[in-house]
Amino acid sequence: MRMAVVGAGVSGSYLGHMLHKMGHGVEIFEASSKENQWAVCAWGASRNMLSMFSKRAGLNFDNYIFHVGKTLRMDLPNQVREYLNLSGLVTYDKQKWEHDLLRDLNVTYGFKCTKENFQFDAYDYVIDCTGMHRTLLPRSNEDFIIPAYEYLLENIHGVDEFYVIGYKGARGYFWFFPLDDNRAYVGAGDMDKKYVGVQEFLMAHSEARIVKKIGRPIRLSPPRRMEPFHIGNVIGVGESIGCVFPMLGEGIIPSLICCDIFLQVLELTKGSMFNFKQYRKNVLKKFDYYDDVYRIVRLKMENKLNMVRHLRLMMSMYRNMKKEESRFGFEVNLEKMTRIVKSL
Ligand SMILES: Cc1cc2nc3c(=O)[nH]c(=O)nc-3n(C[C@H](O)[C@H](O)[C@H](O)COP(=O)(O)OP(=O)(O)OC[C@H]3O[C@@H](n4cnc5c(N)ncnc54)[C@H](O)[C@@H]3O)c2cc1C
Repeated sequence: MRMAVVGAGVSGSYLGHMLHKMGHGVEIFEASSKENQWAVCAWGASRNMLSMFSKRAGLNFDNYIFHVGKTLRMDLPNQVREYLNLSGLVTYDKQKWEHDLLRDLNVTYGFKCTKENFQFDAYDYVIDCTGMHRTLLPRSNEDFIIPAYEYLLENIHGVDEFYVIGYKGARGYFWFFPLDDNRAYVGAGDMDKKYVGVQEFLMAHSEARIVKKIGRPIRLSPPRRMEPFHIGNVIGVGESIGCVFPMLGEGIIPSLICCDIFLQVLELTKGSMFNFKQYRKNVLKKFDYYDDVYRIVRLKMENKLNMVRHLRLMMSMYRNMKKEESRFGFEVNLEKMTRIVKSL
């Protein structure tokens, strides 16, 4: 089949690579120029899952790992501090991973696709992997995004573990993610755009050199609130249809899982029309509990979360995360989770 993949981020690069491997004719379109394209993200995700996706794509994930985390320190409102044991959370060279996947593919850089300028009828299917932009799909009335930005820093000393500061009302958080050679990402997502912790970090680490300032909002609304997933011959995959874990704004693994759902449905409908209905059903099923997590976040933001009244939501988040513990790469512990949610 002739496929166009629009957007060469994590979904677009992985999906493009896998479609090419399966023998489809694939063209990729990316808005940024090749020199300026940057994997906007803090590059943190679960090694367990990325090893699996890498293997499928013929890459050895160990070659991309920067930092293997042991603990995550969380500073929460009212001087509460928690430590989570890590079991696979790493930072990795996301930029290189994506570029390596794209190496043998036909990529047109510097082309910002729009509904008006794109030649939809030249392809059997056009995959919208534009992430937060969702350029080729209709807007959703329930879309919800959180502003975020970060610095890529070098010459960082004295901090060598994952560290976050959770903001009151789950309105966002500050992160410190260590990379290699004294490099790190420091940034924040914050509904109130105060980004507490970022300037404080820079002041406390005057030796740090800013290499890059990067930013874009992150989508928190889950798939159930990001329909439609397709229109005409356009199909959304990844963050464009809400595949982001709402409590953390974590989208690498959810986007890759979404790519796999797309590929499975495509394989099942080999030779005939893509089964849009099946794709929708499978995506909604896989990310069903993200809607409960999203409701917890929104209730917290509105100061309406009640641990008794909303016990079902809390238990749904806990049970589902526990089932997928290795996919997150950190311990999922009911007591800690309750304390964290309460103190936010
Ligand atoms: C500051 C920040 C830090 C983050 N940190 C983490 C993290 O540590 N771990 C984690 O799991 N998640 C993190 N996320 C979320 C994660 O990066 C995204 O959810 C994930 O990258 C989504 O993948 P995607 O391929 O769907 O979209 P993206 O990775 O956003 O890729 C979309 C691509 O489409 C291109 N594009 C957009 N519009 C057009 C157009 N009209 N025409 C052509 N191309 C277009 C863009 O240039 C981009 O290359 C972070 C997000 C931000 C903003």
